[in-house]
Amino acid sequence: MSMLDHTHDAALRSWVESANALGSDFPVQNLPFGAFRRKGSDEPLRIGVAIGDQVLDLQLARAQCPWGSGIDELLAPLAEGDLKPLMGATPALRRTLRGALSLALAEGSDQAPFLELCLVPQARAEMALPCAIGDYTDFFTGIHHATAVGKLFRPDNPLLPNYKWVPIAYHGRASSIGISPQAFVRPNGQTLPAGATEPKFGPCQRLDYELELGVFVGGGNALGRPMGMEQAEDDWFGIVLLNDWSARDIQTWEYQPLGPFLAKNFATTISPWIVTREALEPFRMPFTRAAGDPQPLPYLDSAVNRESGQIDIALQVLLQTKTMRDQGLAPAELSRSNFRDAYWSVAQMLAHHSSGGCNMRTGDLLGTGTQSGPEPGQGGSLLELSSGGKQPLKLPNGETRTFLQDGDCLILRAHCERASARRIGFGECRGTVLPARAG
Ligand code: CA
Repeated sequence: MSMLDHTHDAALRSWVESANALGSDFPVQNLPFGAFRRKGSDEPLRIGVAIGDQVLDLQLARAQCPWGSGIDELLAPLAEGDLKPLMGATPALRRTLRGALSLALAEGSDQAPFLELCLVPQARAEMALPCAIGDYTDFFTGIHHATAVGKLFRPDNPLLPNYKWVPIAYHGRASSIGISPQAFVRPNGQTLPAGATEPKFGPCQRLDYELELGVFVGGGNALGRPMGMEQAEDDWFGIVLLNDWSARDIQTWEYQPLGPFLAKNFATTISPWIVTREALEPFRMPFTRAAGDPQPLPYLDSAVNRESGQIDIALQVLLQTKTMRDQGLAPAELSRSNFRDAYWSVAQMLAHHSSGGCNMRTGDLLGTGTQSGPEPGQGGSLLELSSGGKQPLKLPNGETRTFLQDGDCLILRAHCERASARRIGFGECRGTVLPARAG
């Protein structure tokens, strides 16, 4: 069942020296895709591959370097800035291109003299959304988040009875998804202040983040033809970090009976590099249910899912306030957690989403929901870390936070680590809060 190959060899090194540094997020075993142009230029976007602290420009690489048969066809749309043909390609074709890129960037490659001229320092690259995102759906797979938040509202009955049977989600808004680093304006909205009998309209007072991953859909399915677990496992392309910025006071007032609306659609930030399903292969784990929990219904179950449905991705949240920036202080860690604690797998999200006939399309994005850990202090949002705003969080420089203030910069990071594999990372998802607009 294992899909490990030469691209995952932990001993593999790159002729791009920065990729061999132990802490690098982008060693030659990773090879994530992103869209970029040179900073300050108006050149058309093209697709690049992150390697060490560089980007391999696939437009230049296709033009200036000889490639094996079949590879040029796969590179052609990427050179034009279009990632979707690769996202929608079969897993075999995606693996073929990964194999070719791995050979080209590995130590001893005879393509190195050509490709050396096709590198752009990441510091000089301006990243863009990797593709046009048609639809965005946000799931709720973090059971520790669902339980902790449920407790704030229903101490005796935190988890609703459907949670362990159905992957819960809502349809989000694709138009306001932005790329890291993003600065966004604090939303205005309608809220019901504590003790008031009538709502008011004004700046959000309880602005929060949510630590999530985003899954990009690969092949998709036709309307009325659910994809099923087997196809779902093949049809996700890769994963990014995702911050689902949330206006808690707006959410509290508006969410019943139809769920989140304006509390969630003013900004969503994703990290620029899509770490592919193939790169994550060494970090997969069995999918299990705790004793006493229901097993997934047959349409959400498969042998592959049971064997390797979970993915071990370590997650971290950091905050740098404006005062910390002014004082030259590094960002402070707020929490850590891991995607392996998610209650539903990536394939289950896709299989469930399409199970009624809904068509998933290449480039659609699925949020995983907030990934909180099982312990107190591992909450993936301030709502959890501050117990609903009742217990301010103390930062190392003496500042406190219940919710985000203007000027706060929130940073998400993630990486995968195993004894038998090379560590790979996701880069950063960084967002800064700007003051609300007047009126
Ligand atoms: Ca969310």
